Amino acid sequence: MYPDTDLHIAGAWTKGSGSETMPVLNPANGETLGRLAVATRDDLDRALDAARQGFSEWRTVSAFARGKVMRKAAELLRERVDDIARIMTLEQGKPLAESRIETLAAADVIDWFAEEGRRAYGRVIPARAEGVMQMVLREPIGPVAAFTPWNFPINQAVRKISAALCTGCSVILKGPEDTPASCAALIKAFLDAGVPGDVLSLVFGDPAAISSYLIPHPVIAKISFTGSTAVGKELAALAGRHMKRVTMELGGHAPALVFDDADVGEAVKVLGANKFRNAGQVCVAPTRFLVQDSVFDEFRDRFVAHAEGIAVGDGMVDGTGMGPLIHGRRLEAMESLCADAIGRGAKLETGGSRIGNRGNFFAPTVLTDVPLDARIMNEEPFGPVALIQRFSEDEAALEEANRLPYGLAAYAWTRSAARATKVAARVQSGMLGINHHGLALPETPFGGVKDSGYGSEGGSEAIEGYLTTKFVSQAGL
Ligand code: NAD
Repeated sequence: MYPDTDLHIAGAWTKGSGSETMPVLNPANGETLGRLAVATRDDLDRALDAARQGFSEWRTVSAFARGKVMRKAAELLRERVDDIARIMTLEQGKPLAESRIETLAAADVIDWFAEEGRRAYGRVIPARAEGVMQMVLREPIGPVAAFTPWNFPINQAVRKISAALCTGCSVILKGPEDTPASCAALIKAFLDAGVPGDVLSLVFGDPAAISSYLIPHPVIAKISFTGSTAVGKELAALAGRHMKRVTMELGGHAPALVFDDADVGEAVKVLGANKFRNAGQVCVAPTRFLVQDSVFDEFRDRFVAHAEGIAVGDGMVDGTGMGPLIHGRRLEAMESLCADAIGRGAKLETGGSRIGNRGNFFAPTVLTDVPLDARIMNEEPFGPVALIQRFSEDEAALEEANRLPYGLAAYAWTRSAARATKVAARVQSGMLGINHHGLALPETPFGGVKDSGYGSEGGSEAIEGYLTTKFVSQAGL
């Protein structure tokens, strides 16, 4: 039911040139599901050769033809959704319904980029002299090294691969070691659809060893990373030393502003669902809930009831609303962040501890009155913990929203057009949802500002990172 995962290099699935493998664990029970092949330096060299060769071929394929292959990959994902979703839930933990949604959403992402590649337009600039043609050409940047995490094993990878493929780039993907098989199923869909084997490689292993080899390598022209801000800064610095273009999708600590004129019931429903989706392991999850005085008690009580109503359990079991955290490190992080906050005077409204001693289950947790110097008010919790804080004046909420160096997502709930406009103008984030969630569609920009990174993984902005601009001025025709 759960496959071992091999590397994909130069058109073949392979265990690699070394003998090392890693276990893949089921986060719902700690049992070993299967094994993962680990890439050696030699394997990386072969992937680099393939990426160079693959790029020279794929860039000459028309955008129209590339799009056709990509749309076929999207169809294959849709056909295979049941099998892929099962694999994803086993290794990642999220409820089966969420795994299905992720797989089908990935097919939509591929379809979007398949078409967007056909719109990688250049332009013609009016010349100063007769007979001169001034052309702006957009060209694929070259082989891409992409690094993706375990929280959305398919959706983090599909945005990078699709943007690269539709523009004519080749890709080496360093996939997530915790959740390799569903990511490999995505690669297989692309290959089965007709993406040439040299164009798309998949490797796993020691993330730091792989990134420190691939990023400076002369074959690699572009880096795209999704993960923590701390790692992203290191990789961006390395890329900078080698003058490589970079897209960085990093951490967040999203504020959700709930004003006194909000529809509180709807806000709790939507924000609650998005706080605890994927056990809170979502970079755009709301984290700091800033709630105005007069609706604070109602919001808190309803939110706590929402959290307590979530069925936590194995994602393979019908009716599970929230699965386990990915690994023991996240459990320890939740425990120590909560203990630190409570030790500094925060009030624990519900949850706050591990559930049982088998699997990485952590109770949906709500803390209120959390002091600003608590670690969790400053570090991304990346787990099922909501921090509900009270504010009186709008200005104070905006100040708190912008206090942290993060700037990925933000949310606001108000029936006032003036307030909505003010929040949209003032909040420092790459994305803002007002009175609904509404983020992360393929056709809309997805990315952060400040320490949350740069570049976009959605919308027409997304292919910019994979294109170079060449100006050609031609005379004498
Ligand atoms: P981690 O920092 O060990 O790993 C996070 C991701 O970065 C993993 O995919 C890992 O393989 C990768 N990574 C780590 N060091 C790397 C390196 N030197 N080169 C290349 N890739 C590297 O943390 P973790 O415990 O697995 O995850 C927790 C933290 O990661 C969270 O606090 C969150 O901030 C961040 N994270 C963010 C996202 C996101 O969607 N932005 C997704 C997953 C994890």
